[in-house]
Amino acid sequence: MSIEVTDTLVVGAGQAGIAMSEHLRNNGVPHVILEKDRIAEAWRSGRWDSLVANGPAWHDRFPSLEFANTDPEAFASKDRVADYLVDYATMVDAPIRTGVEVLSAKRLPDRAGFRVETTTGPIEAKSIVAATGAFQHPVIPPVVPEKTDITQLHSFYYRNPDQLPDGNVLVVGAGSSGAQIADELQRAGRKVYLSVGPHDRPPRAYRGRDFVWWLGVLGLWDVAAQKPGTEHVTISVSGAYGGQTMDFRRLASEGMTLLGLTQSYKDGVLTFAEDLQKNIANGDASYLTMLDAADTYVERTGIALPQEPDARNAWADPDCLTTPIRELDLVGEGITTIIWATGFRQDFSWMNVSAFDEAGQPQHQRGVSSEPGVYFLGLPWQSRRGSTFIWGVWHDAKHVADQIANQRKYLAYQGPND
Ligand SMILES: Cc1cc2nc3c(=O)[nH]c(=O)nc-3n(C[C@H](O)[C@H](O)[C@H](O)COP(=O)(O)OP(=O)(O)OC[C@H]3O[C@@H](n4cnc5c(N)ncnc54)[C@H](O)[C@@H]3O)c2cc1C
Repeated sequence: MSIEVTDTLVVGAGQAGIAMSEHLRNNGVPHVILEKDRIAEAWRSGRWDSLVANGPAWHDRFPSLEFANTDPEAFASKDRVADYLVDYATMVDAPIRTGVEVLSAKRLPDRAGFRVETTTGPIEAKSIVAATGAFQHPVIPPVVPEKTDITQLHSFYYRNPDQLPDGNVLVVGAGSSGAQIADELQRAGRKVYLSVGPHDRPPRAYRGRDFVWWLGVLGLWDVAAQKPGTEHVTISVSGAYGGQTMDFRRLASEGMTLLGLTQSYKDGVLTFAEDLQKNIANGDASYLTMLDAADTYVERTGIALPQEPDARNAWADPDCLTTPIRELDLVGEGITTIIWATGFRQDFSWMNVSAFDEAGQPQHQRGVSSEPGVYFLGLPWQSRRGSTFIWGVWHDAKHVADQIANQRKYLAYQGPND
C-alpha cells in the first residue's frame, strides 16, 4: 500500500503552526499541518470566557495582518484572536488538516526522514516541526488531596464565576491567569484569597505608552534567557476592563486577602510560605525598574512623552501584607473552591526521537533540535522572551523555516562535477 509522503510535517495549528506554514511557503518547502482539534483550538476552548489578549490589537498580532474592525488600542477577546488566526491561515493558504491527531513519529530505519502515525493513517516526512504549544497539560501541585469537600480546578478549566459553587475562593498563583481570575471573582462579589508567588509586574502603561511598546523599544521582548531560572518568573499583566496595572495592594484594598506561596495541607488547614512580602517587593522592584528604564530612554532619545510622576505612588500596605497569614482553615474561612493557576507542561510523548535531554526537555538551538530533521516551535524562551507570544513565534518560525530550507539546499547538492 502506498503511503503519503511530504517534505515537512507540522504538528499543531495554533499560532505557531500557522506562522510556520507562512514561512515554509515563502521558502518553497512543501508541507502539511495536522491539527487534532480546530485551528487555534487553545484560544477557543482552553481559556476562560472573558479573557482578552494581554496586549493591544496593534501589537498582539502577526506583522503582516492587522485585526479587522478592531480598535488597535483595544484588547481583542479570545474568540476574536481565534478568528484572526483562522483568517490568517486562510490568507497564507496554510495546508491544515483539522481533526487529525499525530500519535507517534519515529526515524525511518533505512533512509532520512520519519514515519508518522496519525489517526487517519501513516505519513512519511523528511522533517517534523512540533508546534504543539507550551501550555498543553494543566499542572496542579499535589498539595491538597483530591478527596475533600473543596472543589479544585485548574485555571485551564475555569470559565466564569457562575460555574463555581457558592462560597469563598482561593486562587493559587498570581501570574496573568491567577491575578485576572482573582480580580474577576472579586468583582463578581466573591471573597477571594490570592496566593502570590514570584512575579514581574510591569505598569500597564507609562507616560502614554502601553508596556508592550516599552518592552519593544527597550529591546526586552528580544532578551534571551540569561541565567537559569530567569525564564520562570511569570509576568502578571492584564488587558481586562480596558487594561490596568496588576497591583496587588489595590486588589487587597478592594477586599482581597493576599497570601504567600501555598506550601502544604493538613486536616483542612493550608500553610503558606513566609515569602509574601518578598514576592510583593520583588514585583514592585520589577515595576520600578521598568519606569526607570523608560525614563532613561526618554532622556536619551529626547522623545516627547509626558511626565507621569503619579505612577510611582504606591497604595498603602494592607494588613495581610504587613502581617502575612501563614495558615488558613479552609472551612473556617468559608472557602469552597481552590483554583490552581499553576501553569502547564508540554507533551512530546508522541515523538520517539532523540531530541531531548535527560529531563525530557527539548534539546535545541532556537528550535533546531539535536536530531537532524526535528524542529520545535512555540517553546518558552525558544529564542527570546517573546517566543510564546503571537508576534514572537512569527520570528522564530521564520528562523526554523529558513533552517529547513537550508538543509534542503545542502541535501540537493550533488557534489562537484568532475
Ligand atoms: C491563559 C493564556 C493567555 C494567553 N494570552 C496571550 C496573549 O494575550 N497574547 C499572546 O501573544 N499570547 C498569549 N498566550 C500565550 C500563547 O500565545 C498561547 O498559549 C498560544 O495558544 C500558543 O500558541 P501555539 O501555537 O504555540 O500553541 P497552541 O495554541 O496550544 O497550539 C498547539 C496546537 O497543537 C495541537 N496539538 C497538540 N498535540 C497534537 C497532536 N499530537 N496532533 C495534532 N495536533 C496536536 C493542539 O490541539 C493545538 O491546537 C496566552 C497563554 C495562556 C495559557
